[in-house]
Parts: sequence; C-alpha cells; structure tokens
Amino acid sequence: MPIRFQNRYAELPDVFRARVDPTPVADPEWVAFNRSLAEELGLDANWLAGPDGLAMLSGNARHRSSLPVAQAYAGHQFANWVPRLGDGRALLLGEVETPRGRLVDLQLKGSGPTPFSRGGDGRSSIGPAVREYLATETMAALGIPTTRALSVISTGEMVMRERPEPGGVMCRVASSHVRIGSFEYLARNGLGEQVQTLADFIIDRHDPDLAGQADRYQRLFDRVVSRTMTLVAQWMSVGFVHGVMNTDNMALSGETLDYGPFGFLDRFHPDTAFSYIDRRGRYAWGRQPTIAHWNLARLAECLLPLFDADPNRALEFANERLQRIPREFDKAFHARLRAKIGLREASSGNDALALDLLDRMAGQEADMTLLFRALTDLDLEPGEADLKARQWFRDPESFDLWARDWRQALRAEGGDHAARRQAMKQVNPAFILRNHLAQRVADAAVEDLDFAPLHEMLKVFARPYEDQPEHAHYQRPPKAEEVVANTFCG
Ligand code: AMP
Ligand code: MG
Ligand code: MG
Repeated sequence: MPIRFQNRYAELPDVFRARVDPTPVADPEWVAFNRSLAEELGLDANWLAGPDGLAMLSGNARHRSSLPVAQAYAGHQFANWVPRLGDGRALLLGEVETPRGRLVDLQLKGSGPTPFSRGGDGRSSIGPAVREYLATETMAALGIPTTRALSVISTGEMVMRERPEPGGVMCRVASSHVRIGSFEYLARNGLGEQVQTLADFIIDRHDPDLAGQADRYQRLFDRVVSRTMTLVAQWMSVGFVHGVMNTDNMALSGETLDYGPFGFLDRFHPDTAFSYIDRRGRYAWGRQPTIAHWNLARLAECLLPLFDADPNRALEFANERLQRIPREFDKAFHARLRAKIGLREASSGNDALALDLLDRMAGQEADMTLLFRALTDLDLEPGEADLKARQWFRDPESFDLWARDWRQALRAEGGDHAARRQAMKQVNPAFILRNHLAQRVADAAVEDLDFAPLHEMLKVFARPYEDQPEHAHYQRPPKAEEVVANTFCG
C-alpha cells in the first residue's frame, strides 16, 4: 500500500475534533512537491507525485485509510480569551509512521470549510501557501524545529481576499498539531478527564519515556517549557519574529507552528514587530520570551489538577517551574549569542560582550544577519576585513570599540582562530528569508501563477550557512523601496 494512515487523533472522543471531508477543488495542479521530505518520512514519493497523490493532497480524493478531522481548540489571541477557534481551514488526514517509528501528522491547509470556519471560506490563497512552504524549508535548513510542508497545489479556483486571488492547498507535516489552545479548550470547558487524555496523547507521541511515571505530568510540563524556550532562543538568534504567538499557535511539540505574519529582522532592533495586526508590538522580537512564558502559564493552568491532587502543592509546583523560565531562557539565549561571536566559555563577561554588540547594533540599526556573518571573516588583528562589519554602523567607531574588547576576549580564550571562524559560520547564517524576498515569492504566485522565484529561492535557502557568491543578491538587505514593514496572516 503506497500510504497507510493511522487515525490516533481522530479516534479520540468527539469533543476533540469534527469529522469532515475535504471539499474538492476544480483543477488541481502541482506547485511544489517536497520529494526529500517524502523520502525522509518513508512515504512512496513516486506514488505521491503521481495522479493519486495529487488527488489526495488537493483534497479531491480521500485515501481509504484516512479519517479526516478538524481539530478543536481555543486560545488566547493577543491576551484575549477566545473560547472556540479550531481548524477553520485545515484538516488532519491522519498520522503516518516514519522509518524511525515516529508518528507525524499530515494536514491539509486550505481544504474547505469545517464546523470551526465561522465566517471564513476554509480556503487559502496561493500566496501564503508558497510563503509558508519556503519559510518552513528555510527554518529546517537553519536547524530550527518547525512544521514542514510536503506539497503546495493550486486549485484552479479563486478565493476572495482584499482582491480575488488564486487558491492553494498546502500539506503540512508536523510531529503533532496539538497546541496550548487544545488544552485550554478542554480545561476551560470543565473537561478534566479529557485534559488527562490529551496529556497522555502527548506523552505517547512526544515523551514516551514518561509513560507510567508517577510525576509524568509535571515532567511533561517541564519538557514543554524547555522545548518552547529553547525554540524561542533559536528564533531570536537568527532574528526570527513569529508574529502571532497566540496560545493556539504554540505547539506542545516545540516546533514552530503557523507561519502567518512572521518575519526576519533586517536592521536589528529588539522592538521590531511586523504583523499588521500587532499594532502595539506585543509579539516584537525582544518580547518573545516573555510571551512564551505567559503562554506556558496558560498551559500550566490547564494541567494543575494533573500536577498534584492537592491544589496547593500543584500551584506550588507550577509557580516554581514558571519562575525559573527567565533565567533558563537567558542561559539558552546567551549560549547562542556567545557561539555567534565565537566564544565558548560561559562567563558573565562573555555574555555582557555579546549583549553589548546587540545594544550597539540597535542604536545603529545594523543589518543583523550580515553583521554577524561579517564577524566570521575577521582576524585576531584588526585588518581590512573589519570594513565588512563596521560598514553596518553609522558610527563605525562604536563597532571598533566593541571589537577591541571582543578580540581581547578571543585572545584570552585562546584556540585556533581559523577553526573558530569555521564554527562561527555554522551559527551565523549567510542567508535568511528576508521579508521582501518572501513577499516577492508570494506576489509572483498570486499575480502571475509564477512559481519560478519559489523554486529558485528554495535552492538558495536550503544552504543558509554556505557562502553562495552566485546568489549574493539574496543576501543583501532590502532597498528603501523594497522594505516590507507589515506582514499579513494568510
Ligand atoms: P491563525 O490566525 O492562522 O492562527 O487562525 C486563527 C483562526 O482563524 C483559526 O481557527 C483558523 O482556522 C481560522 N481561519 C483563518 N483563516 C480562515 C479561513 N480562510 N477560513 C476559515 N477559518 C479561517
Ligand atoms: Mg493558527
Ligand atoms: Mg495562520
């Protein structure tokens, strides 16, 4: 059999989901098929890339082993409680088992209305679909945990947005789609028993070693906290801004989920927020750890009864665990920053040095990616290569002063500088998916059904840590007229 779905989530009690079949589309055509991902997942790539795969991944045919469901969830959006969200335009086809024995979700996005669609059409424009495909491939290549994309298919139908746009269906692959909002949906409806069912589902899926342990729910929470905060540290170290860190977009798996109004920083400033709807910068680059912490507190509220039968002890556990987050995050983030400037030793002096660079960059609005990448070419003695770094400063002496302290720290730490520079290149990408490039890919798709920019950029961003002189134009920051200040939900 070319594909065999399991339906673990679909078999959970009714309250978790609604059974819905995808709504067929008029004229499905391939836009992108992720053959290497298909192979990694142990799927029959040739079958998937053929007519049966096209029919299944566009929603035009249901595979006989698949029991599609829309997942129920609630969430806090911009801190406001929304009791019912759920998959309004997505359907979980089921889970498939990978060669390593892991289960992953295959989900169609843009597959038509569900009981959770409210006023929406259940569809997606081709623009956000290709943008998410490119973004997830880039994030994966950067080494950041993320959902993936198996395919994008154009539907041959139009969707009404601000203007009519061609429709698209994406197939998203995730190690699971359970979110903090999934727990909130059950807990705030008083369904304590189902909260436990979902926690057991997550343990089975992501943390099977915890099964059967007396303190498994506490340890599960501990793990979710760790992977979430590690993820945020990874985002921030490459200038990623998620853009819509509502609790319904935070996966228990620790994977980046929901590429709506995300963006990568060009010029560094911690207050940068791109999302059109985030007028007050709640989800700005530098606020992401605080928001993740806030979201995790919402998850803790759901899990309290599972932590301990004694409410006081449960609360005590939750508070103690939550209180440790800021220090733990700083540790993870600072370690990444030190690696970016080539210092191994965990000392407060080295941390301060890395943070001082960010401060100086913020004042000068230096290009984050190109500045850190330039550092990987600098020698132990000041020289010509310094120009590459100092050019990003309106006041180059500010950089020189920092570099003097930096070189002192490098010398004090010792070691082979050439090897250090190589190691720095592994954590300071040469290429990130700049907003104007993501926009260019989406615009070409929407306006001309032109997918050449997508396929060209997929090749470039698959190797973000390598110099690719022939693609240097994808490295440079946007010109003034190219800057994309606002990003949008799909
Ligand atoms: P998001 O902003 O992507 O996290 O989505 C928030 C909620 O809106 C989710 O419940 C989505 O399923 C729903 N939604 C977004 N777009 C549509 C659409 N075109 N049709 C139906 N529901 C949608
Ligand atoms: Mg969402
Ligand atoms: Mg979204």
